[in-house]
Amino acid sequence: MQHFSIAAIPGDGIGPEVMAEGLKTLKKIEELHGGIHFSIDTFDWNCEYYVKHGKMMPDNGLEILRDYDVILLGAIGAPTVPDHISVWELILPIRRAFQQYINLRPIKLLRGLESPLRYKAHKDLDFIVVRENTEGEYSNMGGRLHENTPFELAVQNNVFTRYGTERVINYAYSLAEKRTGRRLTAATKSNGINHSMPFWDEIVKEVSKQHPNIQTDIYHIDALAAYFITRPEELDVVVASNLFGDILTDLGAAIVGGLGLAPSGNINPEKNYPSMFEPIHGSAPDIAGKQIANPIAQIWSISLMMEHLGFSDIADLIVSSIEEVLIDRKVSTPDLGGKNSTREFGEAIHQQMTKKSINFI
Ligand code: NAD
Ligand code: MN
Repeated sequence: MQHFSIAAIPGDGIGPEVMAEGLKTLKKIEELHGGIHFSIDTFDWNCEYYVKHGKMMPDNGLEILRDYDVILLGAIGAPTVPDHISVWELILPIRRAFQQYINLRPIKLLRGLESPLRYKAHKDLDFIVVRENTEGEYSNMGGRLHENTPFELAVQNNVFTRYGTERVINYAYSLAEKRTGRRLTAATKSNGINHSMPFWDEIVKEVSKQHPNIQTDIYHIDALAAYFITRPEELDVVVASNLFGDILTDLGAAIVGGLGLAPSGNINPEKNYPSMFEPIHGSAPDIAGKQIANPIAQIWSISLMMEHLGFSDIADLIVSSIEEVLIDRKVSTPDLGGKNSTREFGEAIHQQMTKKSINFI
């Protein structure tokens, strides 16, 4: 029996609704596999907790999390707490403290779904974005001056270290080596941003020399955003800074079915600390409490988690079960044109896992 400890943080809004389905996926894995046991602790660290305690998590929150094998997050954010507090005091400290410097975001059109891009088929939409996750544009260096005067100004520094840039680019190349596409596309804005992006490009070129069999393209972020729409079939591994990767992947999610489907892994490749798996989407206050959120992003993020833990067969079982339900078209949530609840959609996926696992065990 292999044991894994999981810290679950359902969060706010639709977070707890999709997490409930994710926890059932974990139960299903235990049931079907027999050799895996998860011990799960749930933490109520969210905006409600902030309103009560004046902080998003206890002072020793990171120490508590450090002992888990993985962290599973729903979504954070509520109208009662400014976003810069909920994100800066919970998600970003976790990503940084645990050196989760890779944010992996697959952009893959699942079978059973059509892309809003009219002429693109499944084989055209299958790539992965590696987003830098600990530095770059998301820094707290900077400030505001001369407030309440006509000369008020705000400065935000971008931080790109050689160490941090090299490690994310190295990771992206090793991922490209593993995939069959053998292409790496790096996002830049060296024509508009003076220091950080030329630095980033130089490091891409240096690292590319160690991977002569991989085709390297460096595209400006604005043009690359257009290529996501016009020629996604040319993409295999895309590597981007923190902000560029954030924006590109919401776009990526949109071309493969929407935010309700898109998963992500915040990975500490060395496995010195827990990695964290979560949907790309936020707490969706516009649909929260209605049981209509799509649970796929959360369930797919558990597939990424299983891959990370070394169980590719289970990771594949989860994705192919999601695909069966999409192909079947009988059950889906309103974002995919259906009428079913979060719970019913989750249940349909878990039933498929049971059905398909007959070939699996
Ligand atoms: P959002 O992702 O919450 O919602 C954007 C749109 O997508 C909304 O119309 C929403 O209804 C829809 N959507 C999102 N997830 C869905 C799902 N599973 N099923 C169906 N539809 C879904 O982004 P936002 O509105 O910009 O942000 C809302 C809050 O979430 C803010 O407080 C923001 O800071 C926070 N946020 C948190 C995270 C995170 O926890 N990692 C990420 C992004 C935003
Ligand atoms: Mn985002």
